[in-house]
Amino acid sequence: MQVSSGIWFSNNGAAMPAIRTSVPVAVAAGDGIGPEIMEAVLFLLREAGARLDIRTIEVGESVYRRGVTSGIDPDAWATLRETGIFLKAPITTPQGGGYKSLNVTIRKTLGLFANVRPCRTYHPFVEAPHPGIDMVIVRENEEDTYAGIEHRQTAEVTQCLKLITSPGTEKIIRYAFEYAKANGRNKVTCLTKDNIMKVTDGLFHKVFDRISAEYPSIVADHRIIDIGAALIARHPERFDVVVCPNLYGDIVSDIAAEQTGGVGLAGSMNIGEHCAMFEAVHGSAPDIAGKDIANPSGLLQAAVLMLQHIGQGDVAAVLQNAWLSTLEDGILTADMQPEIGGGAVASTRAFTQAVAQRLGKEPDALRPARPSLHAMPTSWKPAAREKPVKELVGVDVFLDWDQDGRYPPVLGSRLESVAEAAGLKLVMITNRGVKVYPGGHPETFCTDHWRCRFRDPDGSVMDNRKVLTLLSLVDQAGLDFIKTEHLYTFDGERGYSLGQGE
Ligand code: NAD
Repeated sequence: MQVSSGIWFSNNGAAMPAIRTSVPVAVAAGDGIGPEIMEAVLFLLREAGARLDIRTIEVGESVYRRGVTSGIDPDAWATLRETGIFLKAPITTPQGGGYKSLNVTIRKTLGLFANVRPCRTYHPFVEAPHPGIDMVIVRENEEDTYAGIEHRQTAEVTQCLKLITSPGTEKIIRYAFEYAKANGRNKVTCLTKDNIMKVTDGLFHKVFDRISAEYPSIVADHRIIDIGAALIARHPERFDVVVCPNLYGDIVSDIAAEQTGGVGLAGSMNIGEHCAMFEAVHGSAPDIAGKDIANPSGLLQAAVLMLQHIGQGDVAAVLQNAWLSTLEDGILTADMQPEIGGGAVASTRAFTQAVAQRLGKEPDALRPARPSLHAMPTSWKPAAREKPVKELVGVDVFLDWDQDGRYPPVLGSRLESVAEAAGLKLVMITNRGVKVYPGGHPETFCTDHWRCRFRDPDGSVMDNRKVLTLLSLVDQAGLDFIKTEHLYTFDGERGYSLGQGE
């Protein structure tokens, strides 16, 4: 096999047969090592008999350099919508200049709500810190702090909104259980920090408990994220399917990848209701681009996931088994440290050729792939629910206040007068969540950002007119309000957290 002008040729120089037309797939060759590993993977897909109709699109550096800050041409969107399936090589995001992450844009635009990352070790053929890992991380992909809603509110204080929604949570948790069921997995572990974030992470945990009850044959396990992440680092073999909100998922996927022995081996998928994107977990590795040393395995794993997703599990299994056999035969690219097992370093092309030669072969020691492996869940839609009764029971008014030595009793007495004029009661003032009025401790450090909580004096339900009156009086008192948060109950259940010490 040799490469000429970007086309793979067989040993006798004849061009490889085109992939038989069947499922349309958008393909982007990416940047850095992207074109070489994509070429290798397309060659293997062809050789394995994948029934694909490849539609090439351009994304990444060249598009950014043309001034398209999203990194994707408008025409490419049409192809993505038409095919609904996207096999993407890594791209380089230029630093600075207002360029947006293409991955985030694609995920959000196409509603790819689930990021699924299988993490597995191939001991003893590929060295890994932990030999027995076989877990799948299912990460919520659209919400959490990744909504990117951030503000600077005062000279000293910035904030980021963490959005956890019930339909988004229900969708990802149901997806995780359906995935476990479809793939014969026994346990789903949910990771949150609901001991601190009782409303947002509390919702995620509550939905997990509710949905897990519908899957009695699967063990449901919840861990606080800090100890959960520590356990993934120390005992990754104890985990099976892991489901978590976006930010924790981002972090634990990298911890898990580290335990499997390198970024070059893993693929991932981003699943939505109408579209799905498949890619390697690593980046464009510009340091090794064009040297014929990159490992195409991560992108190949992504392609295997794609084949399973589009119902070509038969081809996926053939390809996966050829790849596993290649590892077993000690043919490894440099990043897989072949010298540890006494092997020689294979180039990208030699490795790809070796996989091609093993098509039809099954591994001897590693568990062979079967056509049904990584079967895709078919149902993950959130159930329709009745709207709860929502009642306004108070308001938090946030102030930028930097006067009188930031002495809370001074602000407290000014706000007591404002509250009385508005027919409301000042319940408390907190600074960075700690109650500083009434009461408070002289040791508490105060910034210029104050949360002031007001309620009706007799605890009854309020309306927005009272809030408007209050804000107008706050303004007249010369105080700078920077935002409000309304305190609601839903079917009588508190929908806000209490201040520390409230
Ligand atoms: P990287 O993953 O590209 O590289 C990290 C290290 O791993 C490098 O030493 C690299 O040589 C090595 N490596 C990565 N993939 C390899 C492979 N297949 N075979 C052998 N070695 C491999 O991460 P980075 O250096 O932080 O990022 C480089 C560029 O990639 C940046 O522009 C970044 O924005 C981009 N990136 C893109 C994606 C994506 O498109 N999904 C993901 C991550 C990073």
